[in-house]
Amino acid sequence: MTLPAPDPHCLFCRIVSGEIPAQVLAEGETTVAFRDIEPQAPVHFLVVPRSHYPDAASLGEAEPATVADLVATAAQVASAEGVDSYRLVFNTGADANQTVFHAHLHVLGGRSLTWPPG
Ligand code: 5GP
Ligand code: ZN
Repeated sequence: MTLPAPDPHCLFCRIVSGEIPAQVLAEGETTVAFRDIEPQAPVHFLVVPRSHYPDAASLGEAEPATVADLVATAAQVASAEGVDSYRLVFNTGADANQTVFHAHLHVLGGRSLTWPPG
């Protein structure tokens, strides 16, 4: 299978390549986890696929196993961060406040989280 080439204009492709620094928490064959620059909870990190896809749905269609890797990495890093309750979020589309169009899984924890979200 041909993986998509990195997009030189994509912020998260540039973090994955190391061109832009980030506080990296875990690196795997298919995923990279790093702290969110504007944390919304005491623990807030992102898990991204190394491959560039604009959102979680297109990643899931092309590389379903990588979605499982994102979730497994989220669980491992959350545990390493000392949280066993956390929320996983894929913001998808502008109305859901997606601002970076490279698929990414938010992992939020370390405080009690309200439901429903805003
Ligand atoms: P979205 O709004 O697309 O679901 O999430 C994008 C996330 O990326 C936001 O939570 C934002 O704080 C985070 N972010 C934006 N720019 C950077 C950056 O340069 N470095 C890091 N580590 N996170 C970023
Ligand atoms: Zn990208």
